Amino acid sequence: MSKKVPLYIDGEFRASKTESWIPVTNPATQEVIAEAPCATQDEMEAAVASAREAFKTWKEVPVSERARVMMRYQALLKEHQEEIAEILAQETGKTFEDAKGDVWRGIEVVEQAANIPSLMMGETVENVARSIDSYSYIQPLGICAGITPFNFPAMIPLWMFPMAIACGNTFILKPSEQDPLTPTRLVELFEQAGAPKGVLQVIHGGKDQVDFVLDHPEIHALSFVGSVPVAEYIYRRGTENGKRVQAFAGAKNHCVIMPDANKQQVINNLVGASVGAAGQRCMAISVAVFVGAAKEWIPEVAEAIAKVRPGAWNDENAAYGPVISPQAKARIEQMITDGENEGAKLLVDGRGCTVEGLPDGNWVGPTVFSEVTADMDIYKKEVFGPVLSMMEVDDLDDALTLVNNNPYGNGTSIFTSNGAAARKYQHEVTVGQVGINIPIPVPLPFFSFTGWKRSFFGDLHAYGKQAIRFYTETKTVTARWFESDIEASGPNMSIHL
Ligand code: NAD
Repeated sequence: MSKKVPLYIDGEFRASKTESWIPVTNPATQEVIAEAPCATQDEMEAAVASAREAFKTWKEVPVSERARVMMRYQALLKEHQEEIAEILAQETGKTFEDAKGDVWRGIEVVEQAANIPSLMMGETVENVARSIDSYSYIQPLGICAGITPFNFPAMIPLWMFPMAIACGNTFILKPSEQDPLTPTRLVELFEQAGAPKGVLQVIHGGKDQVDFVLDHPEIHALSFVGSVPVAEYIYRRGTENGKRVQAFAGAKNHCVIMPDANKQQVINNLVGASVGAAGQRCMAISVAVFVGAAKEWIPEVAEAIAKVRPGAWNDENAAYGPVISPQAKARIEQMITDGENEGAKLLVDGRGCTVEGLPDGNWVGPTVFSEVTADMDIYKKEVFGPVLSMMEVDDLDDALTLVNNNPYGNGTSIFTSNGAAARKYQHEVTVGQVGINIPIPVPLPFFSFTGWKRSFFGDLHAYGKQAIRFYTETKTVTARWFESDIEASGPNMSIHL
């Protein structure tokens, strides 16, 4: 019998009373390894009630004590990194190295959350008027919530709850129903780190559970990461309900290759950035734009990508794993067929891929198209699979026009040895995260994750200083202290200082 994933409510792991369960499968075998519950209304109400109660005491816990919980949590996550990565690899199919990276990038955010005392400092100005001082505090909001996607089941929950909780909030997490075992292990360790009862709750499920979060009047802020249609829906419904919402969405990331770039570096980096993690990264490079004579490298890039093979999480020779579900595999293969039908040239075809010994896995081989144009669906839509589209332009201005006309703005990179070209690109491109001779420019947690355009709905981004502002409210105090009763005599009719 497969494992029933528990809910985490009021400081305890509970078996759900629901009759509706979602199978969690190993994407390399289709074996059902667990079942995730669709939390009931009563269970979700209990989570909110516990979060409400816990907020009353947690917000009064000194900031340095909150930081210490994060320090202990960071140490525990490091100690258990490989064990978490094994769970993660089996439910996502990621290779062990990639799974460890997923956990590691989350640990780095917890390290940042442990710096919370200095991050929560307000501002002061003495003598804003004679003998009057002004200062601001930042205070937690109350109950916050997070809804996360399947593709980073450790890193993305860790983008959210450690920062929100370190700020003094309580938090309700609704992880992806496709890989809930990794977040469950993260929560066990959080409890072990000394997080008090009720500070973190976990509910499982799909749209109904998300709608509960969107509509609940006591949930003040909502962080979401996932696909564009769901992000738009969540942003609209959440903000209509008066919540603060940050919604991170899909992407189409371009890599611009200048003819003066180092060819071997371009090839090495494009292979990993395009088909690594089966292309299931929101920062994957899905479009390579060859400028001028750089187009002569297209056959060599395709050849290098064609050599890469998928395989099981514990196969050291596997470059990446299966895609998450049979539905995802069918969708990606259909998009490859459509790309071919609309006139793109299929240089490497990943359809019908098999892996020895694992006949039921959701394998998609590396796929490369050339002669892709901006009107094709294979260019316009997010594939979220190991598929690279190659395009050609005459010069850097044309590359900028192409990238800036694309509705997504998550990440981009440029490969060049010309500083002026790199400077022009970084300055003029309308994308929120830019790599220069770096293919996947994911900012470290002392910065923020800053996608633009249709890759992000909201104002304040994930982790870093922006997360502190997202999960807090600013209170500004203007204060005057009288030295004697004489100064306090007579009414003051002025409304200004
Ligand atoms: P998804 O949108 O299908 O699901 C994300 C979450 O939303 C899950 O928890 C799911 O249960 C919930 N959900 C799904 N359908 C819903 C609906 N109709 N109403 C309410 N909630 C719903 O995304 P996914 O397939 O899990 O993840 C892949 C997507 O996430 C890709 O588009 C990828 O680009 C994006 N992503 C973006 C970033 C980023 O930082 N911009 C990072 C990672 C992934």
